Amino acid sequence: MTICVTGHSNPDTDSVTAAIGLATLLNAQGQDAKACMQSSLADLNPESTVVLEKFGLTAPEELTDCSGKTVALVDFSDIGQAPANIEDAEVVTIVDHHKVGDVTTNNPILVRVEPVGCTGTVLNKMFKDAGVAIPKDVAGGMLSAILSDTVNFKSPTCTDDDKAAVAELKDIAGVADTEELFMDMLKAKSSVEGVPAKDLLFRDYKDFDMNGKKVGCGQLELATLDQVADIRDDLLNAAKEVKADGRHTVLLMLTDVVKEGTELVVVSDDEALVEGAFGGKIDAATSSMWVDGMMSRKKQVVPDLQKAFGC
Ligand code: MG
Ligand code: MG
Ligand code: MG
Repeated sequence: MTICVTGHSNPDTDSVTAAIGLATLLNAQGQDAKACMQSSLADLNPESTVVLEKFGLTAPEELTDCSGKTVALVDFSDIGQAPANIEDAEVVTIVDHHKVGDVTTNNPILVRVEPVGCTGTVLNKMFKDAGVAIPKDVAGGMLSAILSDTVNFKSPTCTDDDKAAVAELKDIAGVADTEELFMDMLKAKSSVEGVPAKDLLFRDYKDFDMNGKKVGCGQLELATLDQVADIRDDLLNAAKEVKADGRHTVLLMLTDVVKEGTELVVVSDDEALVEGAFGGKIDAATSSMWVDGMMSRKKQVVPDLQKAFGC
């Protein structure tokens, strides 16, 4: 049966390009695999759309229900981020760089999870281990994912392995200037013009279970906070609306990639808990606080929040 390789819901560039990468590797190894994503091409985030176009990659096909399918997971292993009916699918492989989630299997499977900044970095090693050459377009996608996930090496999740992978992949992809590639992606990603506030909140958004409480966290990576100055009220209202839908807390990280910090918008049943988690004070006028150096949801926001929630 065809292995459907898919990344997490609300797919980002790593989820999309890692699905393409792993499907390519599996096919090169004689298996039958196809890249999928939990989005239509029309709904795909602008950064990933630009990456697919730039490197001439075919968009993965949409997969929202994996009942009865054989699947490989990239960039996640949480049931909450999987396509519907993951319990009725056979998971045959997981390649990831996040903490191990709650997906279970009936049989032993190949799992490769490493504490690096991006699934693309893990995949680059897997191609080398397998002795399979990475096609130029696929390398371009993986390269873009590493630059995106590590915020051009600035994120605390970035490791030497990620930097080494970029050095290798840029040569394969024929990219002379990764700085320029990153800025092109950032421009696409941070473009907010004409986008409804709720869509911006959900552009890179995840829900978490924190000690039985549902906590949502979105992140907008920006070249400057000025980009959202005019829509701050709309973003706050969108966060309030999402919180009202059964959540204890909704956070929106407005991350200034150049200043290397985050204006954290907080809507919570327990603001003091969030303040305590990040050692800040929420400004009542904006319902937000500046957290210097905060770049990564995975490495900086989630662990501190889990601790504060007593997880
Ligand atoms: Mg991801
Ligand atoms: Mg990733
Ligand atoms: Mg990401």
